[in-house]
Amino acid sequence: MENTQELSFVKGRIFNIQRFSLHDGPGVRTIVFLKGCPLRCAWCCNPESQSFEIEQINTAGILKTVGEDRTAGEILDEVERDRVYYRRSGGGGLTLSGGECLVQHDFSLALLALAKERGISTAIETTGFAKAETIKKLLPYVDTVLMDIKHMNGEKHKEFTTQDNALILENAKLIAKEAKRMVVRVPVVPTFNDTEDEIRAIAKFAYDIGVMELHLLPYHRIGSDKYAGLGRKYKMEHIRPPEKEKMEKLLKVAEECGLSVKIGG
Ligand code: SF4
Repeated sequence: MENTQELSFVKGRIFNIQRFSLHDGPGVRTIVFLKGCPLRCAWCCNPESQSFEIEQINTAGILKTVGEDRTAGEILDEVERDRVYYRRSGGGGLTLSGGECLVQHDFSLALLALAKERGISTAIETTGFAKAETIKKLLPYVDTVLMDIKHMNGEKHKEFTTQDNALILENAKLIAKEAKRMVVRVPVVPTFNDTEDEIRAIAKFAYDIGVMELHLLPYHRIGSDKYAGLGRKYKMEHIRPPEKEKMEKLLKVAEECGLSVKIGG
């Protein structure tokens, strides 16, 4: 492990710390949201995460700054306050989210390594869109990788996220092989990937690379109002969340591929 004191001083850019989450890894989690993402998913519920730049968001006429630079040590001191809840909830801890935490990989490494050094369980939520070396460097400090696989077709993936999926699928194989635990997460988005064929294809891919757990995350509209506040257009205005019956059908389809599947994180 690298020098703890040096790691404490590594600076990075975050836009939120959310305590007491139950949906982003085992037990009670503290989620640190990092700025910057290489994708631009049309349904993204955290559009303020996408740019690495510090921005202003207009919320009901009040301008709020999104993004601040903090050291890894400061953040870990804050995370540590909830240690008692992590223990009581059986395996809770720190989750890095975003944005894409692999964009600020030195900062993410510092946060994860410091957490492990303090005996705190770690998880990352990732698109897997990064260099393989970057992922390999971080994995020894990650207990659970929650990785999105959004679509198996490269063109469709690019149409809705602005990036092709080839690198993501390649890195999924690497993570499945080397991570302590990997969960594939699929945002189920009408008009994009909400068909039985597509969910079967993703589930089959996950099973074939050795992943046993899959989460289906129904599209929702929380966060859609932030687009106007950032001066951007929300492209999914006409899309409604998938029906409960549809999600249950897709769950069965994925289960038939041999995976343990749940709806939600
Ligand atoms: S990968 Fe996640 S954070 Fe990045 S644009 Fe897509 S939904 Fe938003």
